[in-house]
Amino acid sequence: MSTSAPITQDVMTIPRKLPEGGKINLVGLTRDQLREVLIANGTKEKQAKMRVGQIWQWIYQWGVRDFHEMTNLAKAYRAELDKKFEIALPEVVTRQVSEDGTRKYLVRIAGGHEVEVVYIPEEDRGTLCISSQVGCTLTCSFCHTGTQKLVRNLTAGEIIGQLMVARDDLGEWPVPGEPKDETRLLSNIVLMGMGEPLYNFDNVRDAMKIAMDPEGISLSRRRITLSTSGVVPEIARTAEEIGCLLAISFHATTDDVRDVLVPINKRWKIDELLQALSDYPKVSNSERITFEYVMLDGVNDSDEDAHRLIDHIKRYNIPAKINLIPFNEWPGAPYKRSSNNRIRAFANIIYQAGYASPIRKTRGEDIMAACGQLKSATERARKSRKQIEAEAGMSQV
Ligand code: SAH
Ligand code: SF4
Repeated sequence: MSTSAPITQDVMTIPRKLPEGGKINLVGLTRDQLREVLIANGTKEKQAKMRVGQIWQWIYQWGVRDFHEMTNLAKAYRAELDKKFEIALPEVVTRQVSEDGTRKYLVRIAGGHEVEVVYIPEEDRGTLCISSQVGCTLTCSFCHTGTQKLVRNLTAGEIIGQLMVARDDLGEWPVPGEPKDETRLLSNIVLMGMGEPLYNFDNVRDAMKIAMDPEGISLSRRRITLSTSGVVPEIARTAEEIGCLLAISFHATTDDVRDVLVPINKRWKIDELLQALSDYPKVSNSERITFEYVMLDGVNDSDEDAHRLIDHIKRYNIPAKINLIPFNEWPGAPYKRSSNNRIRAFANIIYQAGYASPIRKTRGEDIMAACGQLKSATERARKSRKQIEAEAGMSQV
């Protein structure tokens, strides 16, 4: 198994001029990009900052999609905007609801690609599991997404669009003039869907900035968790430029085993990864790093593994919690889930060492919405990765 190279070229470029016959989608533009695009299309420079603020609030605070509803803008200006721009979200192709209330959406993005988004309601919160890529260039051997051949980075608009689509479905946009509802159905984001978010850094960052913007969706950075398989050079940037919480797909306690389970380990070994985590500047006892650990029968689930895991974390003095994930099987998967007794024994060793060791409740299994089971139907197209990249004009380094 070889470690695939990351996609380094972002697919999004900011259109400055109106594309022939088409409209420019405003969703996913940063405030600066929105300003630029408004000015390039006739908004006076002096007014641009104010217009950005107004349009931003309509899109992200109120969920408005029609420029004609933006009542604090002059009618003629609204008509101008409508001619040139659109507020477009990914199209929801299917929506499945699990017995336990978990919802899985299959959404279609430009080019006909599809990605999955999962909403998980809990007693005191609602978490949206967002995808950052179509498929994944990495090939973790236990992950269904890693077997998908199609790969492309999502744009910032497609990433934040997943959240907006879910808010539409949950009916959670506030109504102008009415008090803001503080008890949110969608209160948390985890970047744990399809793809490696740190191989699509800029678009993920821009989308999360939109999610955190106080004039819009306004989620606290502490309610956003980015999960990475261990793209070491991007970990410090995550703290600096996004500032969200971090989860790390650890999954093995020796380099030999991690090389197989999480092949990016061949590039950045366990010690390098642990060093980057201990340097993560936001780390404190209240903002611990989550170590995700998938429990694979006879592969990484021994008592020795549990002790080694604790040793690693202690050696680097990392405030951590360890999230044990029972392996979610998928058709043809080369591993089995560890027994409940084994998982409990493993959890107990970690707990005795003084670390929280919650066992992740598997949600939405009946609709294949659980962690690592996501793999879009676009796979059926059966195109080779090379073909797709050539079509999308992507380059690999
Ligand atoms: N690419 C990122 C985020 C997406 S995967 C990453 O790897 O962190 C989200 C989490 O689900 C990761 O911890 C991943 O290792 C885990 N996962 C993948 N396949 C799984 C499976 N079949 N069962 C349980 N967890 C799985
Ligand atoms: Fe990609 Fe994460 Fe799956 Fe690995 S576990 S193949 S990094 S999505």
